[in-house]
Amino acid sequence: MISVKEAQELVLQRASLFLVETIDIEQAYGRTLAEDMVADRDYPPFNRAAMDGYAFRSKEASEVTEWEITGDLFAGHQWDKAIEKGQCIKIMTGATTPSELDCIVQVELASVANGKVSFPNAPTRPWQNIARKGEDCASGDRILKAGTQLYPTEIATLAVLGKKEIKVLRNPKLAILSTGDELVPVGDPVSPFQIRDSNAHSLTAFFQSLHIPISHKAIVKDTPEMLEEALQKVISYDIIILSGGVSMGDADYVPGILQKIGIQKVFHKVQLRPGKPLWFGQNPNGGVVFGLPGNPLSCQVCFKLFIEPYVRKCAGLESKNQLVYPIAFAKKKKVKLDEYFPVELQNGVLYPIRFNGSGDITSTLGSTGLALHPIHVEDLPEGTLLEYISWV
Ligand code: AMP
Ligand code: MG
Repeated sequence: MISVKEAQELVLQRASLFLVETIDIEQAYGRTLAEDMVADRDYPPFNRAAMDGYAFRSKEASEVTEWEITGDLFAGHQWDKAIEKGQCIKIMTGATTPSELDCIVQVELASVANGKVSFPNAPTRPWQNIARKGEDCASGDRILKAGTQLYPTEIATLAVLGKKEIKVLRNPKLAILSTGDELVPVGDPVSPFQIRDSNAHSLTAFFQSLHIPISHKAIVKDTPEMLEEALQKVISYDIIILSGGVSMGDADYVPGILQKIGIQKVFHKVQLRPGKPLWFGQNPNGGVVFGLPGNPLSCQVCFKLFIEPYVRKCAGLESKNQLVYPIAFAKKKKVKLDEYFPVELQNGVLYPIRFNGSGDITSTLGSTGLALHPIHVEDLPEGTLLEYISWV
């Protein structure tokens, strides 16, 4: 049986960058930029009034005490008259300050009487209250790098740069198949010998956190024929994830059928608890197939250890930093496997979560992530530093 590290390497070796597609800016949230973005012009593109106020030449302020207001200037309009000595204009925030003016006093500090304005106690320094052309960025500057994830600030920047159409990494075609005769979709009536399919939903939520939509979801009965039929429907996909049916039971058909339809096994079984029966294979079309054990916690552990790092690499994202925290309890080694167990991280310390096993769902609710009790380390005294993986 291979180790978790070896298995992770075999998975990551098969990760290649997602293809590129062009989308409208409206669809950009959470996507990953696939091209560098360069400023098409200076920003601000003109000397922008940063306050509502009065604009004039700062050098005249030592001589002029009462200014003649020669007109109003609003945002989006151009000034086209001469401005004589002793004259100022009333200017609104966002307007293009005429090139000969270099000072704005905000309206709150101005006093107007008889059509004239004075600024008794206001500073009149050059360039005050004016955002100068190009001070934010200059035409030709590289503003966003390929690989950047697009959130509100980045998307606003794309709009500023005039990018309506954007090249981003294409989302993979992704299928989630929940196998098991006992499974019922949430919302349907459930008999005493059935259980509700929760793995499809933990996996969907995990993928939502990576901003990757699920292209196809299904519950599949435990017969070789149904399984093969369900797999054939999604055989061309980039990522196929099955849960259940990879262990040693008489209805665990997943490994056999995957190989029958041409998926090449890379490994089956890892020195891991929970998650030992994990099956991983290469689709000849370049895609990958993960056969996760059906127990809810096993399924989630396998997602965090194998699928998330795979998808992050395909999406051009950096791998997550390894975190290490001390435990507030002592723990005995249960099995000669890498044991990942739920813990609660509080103020830099890991606290235990009481749970029965990998089939539990509600007992792991208070956990913030998983801690690793490594395969070759026997009992852990209180205060031991353990590797920690956060659920989110
Ligand atoms: P299996 O890996 O198919 O042997 O399933 C192991 C355990 O996980 C069984 O108790 C199953 O009922 C349970 N299980 C399998 N699939 C799911 C699922 N999609 N949602 C919740 N529990 C599941
Ligand atoms: Mg099953």
